[in-house]
Amino acid sequence: MEIKFNNVSYTYNSPIKKKALTNINIEIRQGRINGIIGRSGSGKTTLIELINALLIPTVGNIKIDDFVIEKNKKIAHINNLRVNIGLVFQLPEEQFFNIRVKDEIKFGMKYFNIKPNEIDKRCSDALKMVGLDDSYLNKETFKLSSGEMRKVAIASILAFNPKVVILDEPTIGLDSNSKKNLIYLIRLLKTKYNKTIILITHDVDLLHQISDHVFVLDNGKIVLEGDKYQVFTDDRLYHYGLEPPKIIEFEKLVQKNKNIKIGYRDEINDLIKDIYRNA
Ligand code: ADP
Ligand code: MG
Repeated sequence: MEIKFNNVSYTYNSPIKKKALTNINIEIRQGRINGIIGRSGSGKTTLIELINALLIPTVGNIKIDDFVIEKNKKIAHINNLRVNIGLVFQLPEEQFFNIRVKDEIKFGMKYFNIKPNEIDKRCSDALKMVGLDDSYLNKETFKLSSGEMRKVAIASILAFNPKVVILDEPTIGLDSNSKKNLIYLIRLLKTKYNKTIILITHDVDLLHQISDHVFVLDNGKIVLEGDKYQVFTDDRLYHYGLEPPKIIEFEKLVQKNKNIKIGYRDEINDLIKDIYRNA
């Protein structure tokens, strides 16, 4: 699915009037991990809530394949849109409704006319995708670890098989091991299951590791956009309240102080190998 914002602005009306997004013109391409980054209050969550029409632009429109999200226009068959845009909210486990994992995963499917005889299989498949086996089906959601809860929340979205998976601050509250697991899962969603990923985070190191394309929001505007190397080597990042990823800072430092140019690398392990080879 291609997602295109055409001059989109959004103003909240309640509880207070607040312009949250101004003149957004972006394209989110299929099959990539798209990062959205920006300081708190910059408009990240507002932007993704527009994508599945939870919010409707005050100005402009959003085109997603044949769907047009626009003020005063009814979206025909909105469920055909929403079934393809899986939105995992920030701290999704705080919104668990069900005692058993299987019921939590079934819960989301109810809205999308999924054939009853497919539902159980989809539960198992979704759990498998996040790396949990069928023994989790009957476990109690409230007894899971925070990493497992996050995985179940993601599984409940994957169960209806959306083409686009949006994750709002997915690593918040996870220990480093659960975080590693989640990074692995996000990569798998792209490479094995061909999902388009939209990943919101304030963690530049994480985005640098796994994203393909990055959008930087500041005060409701897109201020930087591009290939992750382009964005993360840009000195204007500081200006928008962000620090470059540690690995990039290191690469720049070596270049400046030792006059050694090492190529940019996603993973610290690859960088160490480069340095070792050249030493
Ligand atoms: P982020 O996710 O980047 O932290 P948000 O999209 O949540 O930012 O918010 C963007 C701006 O809109 C912020 O200034 C926030 O305070 C404001 N905002 C968010 N929700 C509402 C609301 N319901 N009413 C008024 N202002 C809001
Ligand atoms: Mg937010």
